[in-house]
Amino acid sequence: MKIAGIVEESVVDGPGLRLAVFFQGCVHNCKGCHNPETHDLNGGKEMTLDQIVEYMDNPLLSGITLTGGDPFCQPKEAYFVAKEAHKHNLNVFTYTGYTIEQLIEKNDEDMMALLKESDTLIDGPFILAKRTLDIPFVGSSNQRIIDIKEYFK
Ligand code: SF4
Repeated sequence: MKIAGIVEESVVDGPGLRLAVFFQGCVHNCKGCHNPETHDLNGGKEMTLDQIVEYMDNPLLSGITLTGGDPFCQPKEAYFVAKEAHKHNLNVFTYTGYTIEQLIEKNDEDMMALLKESDTLIDGPFILAKRTLDIPFVGSSNQRIIDIKEYFK
């Protein structure tokens, strides 16, 4: 899979100490995006699932965050990372520039698998005019923190 970067112990990408995996590739092109170098779908560096799983062997971690870029640009790969995270008792936060409604409308098997393997989805594009520092873990106030199990109940 194509990876833009990894932060082994992040405190800003969700609750607790988290392994943050930045997937390469994004199609949303939000004005004011902080990570424009992650947009190129052909950029980043190639990593195997095993290489990423090695970072999960850290007893201090409470979860993993799939971010980018947009993990839904490599949904199958990101799904396998999320699945391995659950095997390591790590909760899964997933960021996307799509809204959850857009993801469901796409009716894409791999995207749905990634969505359902996520515990929490932070959805929607970054909107510069709605930029906020007041809501934890989001960049703009339109973005929602969605409990996936609750959502699909
Ligand atoms: S979805 Fe995220 S990575 Fe993609 S352009 Fe928007 S802010 Fe940047």
